[in-house]
Amino acid sequence: MQKVKLPLTVDPVRAAQKKLDYDGIIKAELLERLAASTQSVTRDANVTLSFDLDQRRLAFMRGRADVEVTLTCQRCQEGFQHEYSVEFCYSPLLKPEDADDFPEAYEPADVDENGEINLIQIVEDELILELPQVAMHDEADCKASGNMTFGEIPVADERPNPFAVLKNLSK
Ligand SMILES: [Zn+2]
Repeated sequence: MQKVKLPLTVDPVRAAQKKLDYDGIIKAELLERLAASTQSVTRDANVTLSFDLDQRRLAFMRGRADVEVTLTCQRCQEGFQHEYSVEFCYSPLLKPEDADDFPEAYEPADVDENGEINLIQIVEDELILELPQVAMHDEADCKASGNMTFGEIPVADERPNPFAVLKNLSK
């Protein structure tokens, strides 16, 4: 079956009532913040999402995404491919006043004025948070391995901290 492009936004309550499943992609060029946190995003992200209602009739979305990016090795400064996946579970935060006693099983997903959640933003946030703090080749693949002991790995300043990117966006 051919993969479809994910919708940008979705009404999570309606999707949960219909028990919708998505198996699709997010185009690499849409992942601009992930691209800014890496050298580049080298392929489209595969994303599967399942919407459902839990026992308390709360809408939730369980998902998985994988992607490949080029990172800069902090030991030898060369680029390398990094493929990884994330799993997540969100429930829409329908009323901001519920934020304090939000069920622990879920991450809160902000809804817009139409009651919709932004799927690309959620998936991209998850992918950014899962980037390695210090990117490095496997030792066997790294030109600089053996030249340095672990304690001497320089921490590069050039790469933007993924958490800083998220912080700026939430302002
Ligand atoms: Zn390296």
